[in-house]
Amino acid sequence: MPKETLRALWCILFPRRCFFCNAVTAVEDRLCRECAAVPEEEYVVAEPRCKHCGAAQKSCPCGGKAMFFSDVLSPYYYVQPAFSAVRQFKFHGKREKAAQMAEDMAKRILDCFPDRPFDCICYVPQTEDEMRKRGYNQSQLLAQELSEQTGIPSCDALVKLYDTKRQQTLSSTARSGNVLGVFDVRRPGAVFEKNVLLVDDIKTTGTTLNECAKMLRIYGANTVIAAVFALTKKEEPRA
Ligand SMILES: [Zn+2]
Ligand SMILES: [Zn+2]
Repeated sequence: MPKETLRALWCILFPRRCFFCNAVTAVEDRLCRECAAVPEEEYVVAEPRCKHCGAAQKSCPCGGKAMFFSDVLSPYYYVQPAFSAVRQFKFHGKREKAAQMAEDMAKRILDCFPDRPFDCICYVPQTEDEMRKRGYNQSQLLAQELSEQTGIPSCDALVKLYDTKRQQTLSSTARSGNVLGVFDVRRPGAVFEKNVLLVDDIKTTGTTLNECAKMLRIYGANTVIAAVFALTKKEEPRA
């Protein structure tokens, strides 16, 4: 069979898909036309960033609110087209997106911290019940990929003790109560006096990441820096 025909056949059987929304796209393109049309300044987080919330300093919505993590690294805002990638990854079973998503996260992490001052990568855990429902923990997949790509060891130090309502369904006050006391450190030795990179898929109000970071600090972690794929552009008004 001629090479051209083989190539055409290959493209039909395994079409290239848009990194963000998974639409079929031209072989040479990473993004579909619709995603490529969104100006990068709308969804790429610009440096310098606010270390409290991770948004670009010039448009930081948090007012310097203190958190248990000391920085937030995110390549994107949780708006289109990054929003689509998270939805595909989290709610449409596209777990294979983890590798590519982690690539963009790793780039941001290494751009900000080229000497990789992290001892381990922890991730926001799920209960066994939550794991069973989705079949995988999206944060764990990202942490594993990040570990492979950066050489920083991944560590399942955190554990989630109870099921909780989905944070996105609650007001910001309810969110704090919803995750209070829900996480614990099951391997204290793994985080004691360590510099920890704490991974989640998204950061909205930061309540979940903050609660996990708090536990890591209680168990003696030196620093906790959060890394996510996308974060909300505007925080919800504080109640
Ligand atoms: Zn797309
Ligand atoms: Zn801020």
